[in-house]
Amino acid sequence: MTTAAIIVAAGRGRRAGGETPKQWRALASRRVVDWTLDRFRLPEITHIVLVLSPDDDPAWEEFGATDLLLAKGGTERADSVRNGLQALAGRGVTRVLIHDVARPCVTAALIRTVIQALDSHDAAAPGLVVTDALWSGADGFVEGTRDRAGLFAAQTPQGFDYDLICAAHEVRSGEAADDVEVARAAGIKVAIVPGEADNLKITRAEDFARAERVLRRDMDVRLGNGYDVHRFGPGDHVILCGCRIPHGRGLQGHSDADVGMHAVTDAIYGALAQGDIGRHFPPSDPQWKGAASEIFLAHAVSLAGNMGYHIANIDCTLVCEHPKIGPHAADMQTEMARIMGLTSDQVSIKATTSERLGFTGREEGIAALATACLVRS
Ligand code: MG
Repeated sequence: MTTAAIIVAAGRGRRAGGETPKQWRALASRRVVDWTLDRFRLPEITHIVLVLSPDDDPAWEEFGATDLLLAKGGTERADSVRNGLQALAGRGVTRVLIHDVARPCVTAALIRTVIQALDSHDAAAPGLVVTDALWSGADGFVEGTRDRAGLFAAQTPQGFDYDLICAAHEVRSGEAADDVEVARAAGIKVAIVPGEADNLKITRAEDFARAERVLRRDMDVRLGNGYDVHRFGPGDHVILCGCRIPHGRGLQGHSDADVGMHAVTDAIYGALAQGDIGRHFPPSDPQWKGAASEIFLAHAVSLAGNMGYHIANIDCTLVCEHPKIGPHAADMQTEMARIMGLTSDQVSIKATTSERLGFTGREEGIAALATACLVRS
């Protein structure tokens, strides 16, 4: 499956006030368009099409020099989307996400939810259940109420089978509120996935302040480092980053002596300012004797979640002459990612020797260093 994204940025956005269309206006130190594009720079997404107004000359020059595909905006939104779909023709794209540039607070989690829903549906889009009472009104007075049962507020990104949405846009002309409307007119069933309250569409002037609050909260980033050492002793294997590696000696320690996993665990505790493994799992407590270090790492990850953070990435360096880490690094990445609920590309495991210097060089033990980056969820 090859997934592409189309970011529709050709609107003039006059309702948001100001002379400049909203996508080019500053939001938390960057432009709206920059925030939105960055949200779609995910390993799962192979192509990003930016649909621009023919009038936005400097943007054509600026983005023409990047890896983005560009498409020309049309008179109606549907024309812009159609041009964006055509820009993907012949590129082997099987699924496409269509997103409004004015929703810069969309999260990677929501984008992935829509992509995953396309595994079992031809189309999927986020919607928020309407929970507020609904009124009709005129001249500042309530004129009636509306039944909210079964109503959803539609969001983007809206995801589709590429060929089906292309065909739907081919036969449909004229105005459509969104691509779900175009898809449904062609008989495509659209699954609803849960939207996010913070995935707001910047429409009015005051929406900038709300979007900025959401984005600045996301910028609550914490770093932690971890360092650990275990000495060699008798044995026929070591456990490193969750992987059992045959070796002429074992590592000694109270638990399974997984020096790499301990360093990563301490990096997470460090980012949270919550001490270290010894504080949460005292070595004086016999229940942790010989324990699988996975327990410690899983605890640190769940503590991060409880404190409102998720792990953005982990980097771990093992320092040893032997065993050679390279052949096992990919397995270690997979195993560490599994325990932490991350994807492998969020976990780096690498190794170095110390040029036969010091205790690691004399092969008396293995050291490990780790860095963890945590972001507020
Ligand atoms: Mg340790």
